[in-house]
Parts: sequence; C-alpha cells; structure tokens
Amino acid sequence: MALNKPKIVILGAGYGGLMTVTRLTKQVGPNDADITLVNKHNYHYETTWMHEASAGTLHHDRCRYQIKDVINQSRVNFVQDTVKAIHIEERKVVLAGGELPYDYLVIGLGAVPETFGIKGLKEYAFPIANINTSRQLREHIELQFATYNTEAEKRPDRLTIVVGGAGFTGIEFLGELANRVPELCKEYDIDRSLVRIVCVEAAPTVLPGFDPELVDYAVHYLEGKGIEFKIGTAVQECTPNGVTVGKKDEEPEQIQSQTVVWAAGVRGHPIVEEAGFENMRGRVKVNTDLRSPGHDNVFILGDSSLFINEETDRPYPPTAQIAMQQGETVAKNIGRLIKGGGQLEEFKPDIKGTVASLGEHDAVGVVYGRKLKGTPASIMKKVIDNRSLFMVGGIGLTLKKGKFKFF
Ligand code: FAD
Repeated sequence: MALNKPKIVILGAGYGGLMTVTRLTKQVGPNDADITLVNKHNYHYETTWMHEASAGTLHHDRCRYQIKDVINQSRVNFVQDTVKAIHIEERKVVLAGGELPYDYLVIGLGAVPETFGIKGLKEYAFPIANINTSRQLREHIELQFATYNTEAEKRPDRLTIVVGGAGFTGIEFLGELANRVPELCKEYDIDRSLVRIVCVEAAPTVLPGFDPELVDYAVHYLEGKGIEFKIGTAVQECTPNGVTVGKKDEEPEQIQSQTVVWAAGVRGHPIVEEAGFENMRGRVKVNTDLRSPGHDNVFILGDSSLFINEETDRPYPPTAQIAMQQGETVAKNIGRLIKGGGQLEEFKPDIKGTVASLGEHDAVGVVYGRKLKGTPASIMKKVIDNRSLFMVGGIGLTLKKGKFKFF
C-alpha cells in the first residue's frame, strides 16, 4: 500500500459530483489516491425532475436513489454530512460532524434560489429546489384544495397559485400543474373554473432566449389549459397573503394567493462565496481545465461554476447537461495530476439541445439543431431523463427509475 496517498474530496453528489466520482474510480487506482464523497443526504435526487415532485405528478421517491447503489463502495468513502465551510488556505473542509483535509477538492454543491432582494420572497414563496422543498410544496397545494370546502366563507386565495418566472423551471412546473389541478379538483369537489394559475414574468417573453415558434407553442398550450400569463411584469413583493406585481410605470396589482412559487433563477451555493473564491452571484468563473483561478488543486463544476462560451462571450446557463460533462473532465484532470499524465484537458461543452416539458405528454425543444414539439419532444425529454440515469448508474438504475411511459 502506498503511504501518504493524495486525498481527493468531492463535495455534493449531484449531477457533477456523481459523474466525477463514478469516472474517477476508473482514472485512479486504489493505491493512487483516497476518494471521499460528501453529501447532505444518503440519496441523489434528480433536480431536473423536481417540478414533477413539486406539483405531485411524480412521487418524490421516483426522483431519487441511494448514493451507495451507484458508487464503488470499496473505492469511495461516502460521508453523509453537511458541508459548513471550506478553508482554502488550510486545505480542509468543515462539516457539521467534523473536518476533512484534502489535497484535491471538487466542489459540486449546486445552487440556491436567487430572490434578487425582492421583499418577502425568501420568507413566503416556495422554491423548487430539492426533495424537501418539493414535498412541502406538493403537500401545501393539496392542503389548500382540501381546506377550501371545509370553510364556510370560501377563500379564492386558496385556489390561486402564482408562479414567479417563465423560464424553464417555471414553464415545466406550470405544465405539471395543468395536469395536476384537474385531479385535485376532482378529489376535493372543486369546480376547475374556481382555480386561478398565474405566471408572472419580468422579461418581455416566456422562455427568454428560446426559439420564438416554440415559445408560442408553449404559451398557447398552457393558456389552453387555463394558465394566465403576465409578461413584462415583475413580482415586487411577496407577503403571507400573496404578491404585488406590476409593469414598469403602471399601478401595481395585488394578487391574493396562498401559494406563491418562485422559479425565477438560481445563484451558486453560499459556501462557495463564503470560502473567499472570486465569484459572480455565487458562481466561480473557472479556467478551461475547470480549476478555480489561483487554486491549482480545486475544481469547481455544475451550478457552482461559471463557464464562458467563447462564441458569445457569455456564461453557459447552468444545466445538468453541462454539470455531467464537467464531471467527466474533472475526473480525467485529477487522474492526470495524480499520475503526472501531462497537460490537463480543456473542457469543451457538447450542447446536444434543450427540451422543456409541458406536463407528461407534451414538450418543446431543440435537439441537435432540430425543433421538436408535442409528442416527439415529450419522448425526447424522457430519453434525456433516462440518459442521465444511465450515465451514472448504467442499465440497472435506468430500468429501476427510468421513464418508459411514452404516450
Ligand atoms: P445538483 O445536482 O443540484 O447537486 C448538488 C448536490 O449538493 C445535492 O446532492 C445537494 O444535496 C448537495 N449539497 C448541497 N449543499 C450541501 C451541503 N452544504 N453539504 C453537503 N451536500 C450539499 N438542467 C438540464 O440540463 N436540463 C433540464 O431539463 C433541467 N431542468 C430543470 C428543472 C428544474 C425544476 C430545476 C430546478 C433545474 C433544472 N435544470 C435542468 C438545471 C439542473 O438541475 C442543474 O443545473 C443541475 O442540477 C446542477 O448540477 P450540480 O451537480 O451543480 O448540482
């Protein structure tokens, strides 16, 4: 056994962290390094499926799996704990239950909701972020429907859902709500016409930056399911009773609602900011080899990182697709550093496309440059979801957790 083996510590078992770990065990041998993976929970959750768990169209247990089932436990020491701080100079990570020294660090702690300082959002709006927030939102919506008919004085605010943000997360959640609300109405004897679902978006369009024809398709589809859009309209404040929204230079409007969902953006994990890395909204602009500038032993990936698209000179949007590809590069680069295998690989994103679901059976997307909508897009979305399972856990995990109901 080699003494003083380098210690590789990976923070976060999300898309980026798990890809790094599963690939790293193939890059470095048991005598080359000790590998430790730290994650808050003993499970990985599919963040990209959280809109379904939040609306209640897919049970949260379908959206998660045990970490021990996909890592090589004889090679990776899994520590279930919460990261509290990173001390870069001392090369150690502080956990709730102790400390971990490292020689190489990989940070894949993901993102947290960005509220842009809008009053009351942090306190009163529901984010779509993880298993816990999804369970809470699903239960909350159901409680509003269940309570409605128990009260002598009927409260329309119980049946009013406001979604802040018409980006991918907001639109995908609305698509699920469009399917879930009729089920809830049936279950709790409520007329569908009494339910109001309003989407408020500050930008001048739904799905900013997306193909206009597909945007029209998505809006038309969701409006047809009874969803109201207030575009070019900003959420100004959130209170326990609802939201104040308004267009520039117009009188603000109050919407009474017991359920305000905030789906309008994320920022990098606060631990990354607190560690002292130079960052933009919690995301570190990494070098092309995915190391943090000035820290040759620290790799940052996924939503904690910011990677610039050389063609547009703008950062790539944070996606699972990029986080997973970065995991592969990070594993190769750590392997090379440890084994002295020459130049580090430059990360080159291979963007295959983007698909936004509109409920279980519809979607819009662009894949390999081709526009898709309706059933073909919806099938493609499921193929993408299954692919991410396959990449981490092979055919076994795909068969166990995959989505195979295509129509
Ligand atoms: P994550 O996958 O979020 O993982 C972070 C991990 O760190 C988690 O396991 C978490 O528990 C753990 N963690 C956090 N804090 C701590 C701590 N203090 N201590 C220990 N562990 C901690 N992207 C796409 O490419 N396609 C899509 O269709 C798509 N749809 C989306 C739909 C929704 C509803 C949402 C919310 C996001 C979607 N995204 C999509 C974006 C995508 O989910 C993220 O970009 C991706 O999850 C980032 O991966 P990551 O590895 O950086 O972090």
